[in-house]
Amino acid sequence: MTLEALIKKRIRAKGPISIADYMQLALAHPEHGYYMRRDPLGAAGDFTTAPEISQVFGELVGLWVARQWEAQGKPAAALVELGPGRGTLMADALRATKKIAGFHEAVSVHLVETSPVLKQKQWHALAGKHPRIEWHESVDTLPRDTAWLAIANEFFDALPIRQFVVQDGTQTERRIGLVDNQLHFLPTTNSHQPTTITETCEPAQTVMATLAKHIAKHAGSAIVIDYGYAEGKGDTLQAVKDHAFHPVLETPGEADLTAHVDFAALAEAARKAGAAAHGPVPQGRFLMQIGAGVRVQKLCATATAEQGAALIAGLDRLASPEQMGDLFKVLAVVPKGRPAPEGFA
Ligand code: SAH
Repeated sequence: MTLEALIKKRIRAKGPISIADYMQLALAHPEHGYYMRRDPLGAAGDFTTAPEISQVFGELVGLWVARQWEAQGKPAAALVELGPGRGTLMADALRATKKIAGFHEAVSVHLVETSPVLKQKQWHALAGKHPRIEWHESVDTLPRDTAWLAIANEFFDALPIRQFVVQDGTQTERRIGLVDNQLHFLPTTNSHQPTTITETCEPAQTVMATLAKHIAKHAGSAIVIDYGYAEGKGDTLQAVKDHAFHPVLETPGEADLTAHVDFAALAEAARKAGAAAHGPVPQGRFLMQIGAGVRVQKLCATATAEQGAALIAGLDRLASPEQMGDLFKVLAVVPKGRPAPEGFA
């Protein structure tokens, strides 16, 4: 039975399901979930992420983290990545931070990942790159007594959101039911009535609260990079397959399903948990401020003409406002009372 058939069966038996339930099933159903069976990244997959575009991304994020660690007195720390994909960002970060005195010795590496396929890829990508690497199903099993240095690139956008529809002053949760035996959003919106859709992402808030609470108490930092907004933006649920948008309710489990990240809500969750939140700032501005231009120039000096052109094209894709530079944003969480981290001044 396909996941679509399973979802229809469930709706027939128990009624319409929430958007969060739909996302959870489409992404994480143990047998049919999108992330459970495949590596979705790269040219042959459905989408490409920043670390897959340029090595500079993971290198600079790694160096940013290591400098936070230095600035906070070089504590013993868990270097944590949430949703590490193919392990590319972490591999680049570890390579770039080798020269930072004491950093590799002070950290152990912790990867929070639910996909068996991607865990395998991460294991290969990181073999021999650090002596202490562990995998976790969630943030709940991360080390309790050391600082956390957390990185999350395109992780929060994969967490299930709920949507609410406001029509004529009444708010109802938007659900997915069946109309003529096809998956359909309910209530069906009528174009003559003004409709506002709002979104919430409870799992994102919970994960952020866990990170921020720990950082407030044990030091460290979290850096969150994702596409998203700083103020409410309506319906942002989207599906992507083969590098193109795909109808959200078509072939669940076969397309990536994400929502834009509500950075204001994440920052608020971090502050409520007792930490300081900086940003969000646009990814392009952040990367240029922390030295992406200089880094690319330096790499170009020893690269072939072809490699140099690829490095420059990669940086352009990550940083220019009309590409990923503006839509993607960066949020940093550090203990209260610390100066604004690099890139957030
Ligand atoms: N950070 C990587 C991959 C982004 S794709 C990159 O930039 O290339 C999203 C990643 O989050 C995948 O590794 C996916 O398996 C993981 N993921 C999605 N939902 C998750 C969850 N609830 N818990 C842990 N990992 C999750």
